[in-house]
Amino acid sequence: METCLFCQIITGKIPSEKVLETADFVAFKDIHPKAPVHVLLVPKTHRDRPEDLTADEITAMLAGTEEIAQILGVKETGYRLIFNVGAHAGQEVDHVHLHLIGGAPAKGMY
Ligand code: AMP
Repeated sequence: METCLFCQIITGKIPSEKVLETADFVAFKDIHPKAPVHVLLVPKTHRDRPEDLTADEITAMLAGTEEIAQILGVKETGYRLIFNVGAHAGQEVDHVHLHLIGGAPAKGMY
């Protein structure tokens, strides 16, 4: 989708700080990080909701989280993986994305 922010990041029209790219997804640093490490994993094909992801995309993205955690040095200390879905979750961008957040202890669950 040409107007989608993350689709434009994927094609390089909008710059981003990429951490990892595979055939299935792109991972880049969140522009407003909520913790020392905050990366977004975004499927290359526009998907609106997590349940629209293919099995291959889910597998690739989850494998990617481990690689990104290793690259950014949080594999041992731990991190959160979050899909925000809909208004109450505070979802801002429609293109489905998985947050990887770490680098400091989390401040509670909710
Ligand atoms: P969500 O609230 O789950 O929809 O998360 C959207 C995330 O995208 C937020 O954490 C934003 O800070 C992040 N974001 C918005 N624009 C950009 C951008 N141009 N580059 C990187 N991250 C962005």
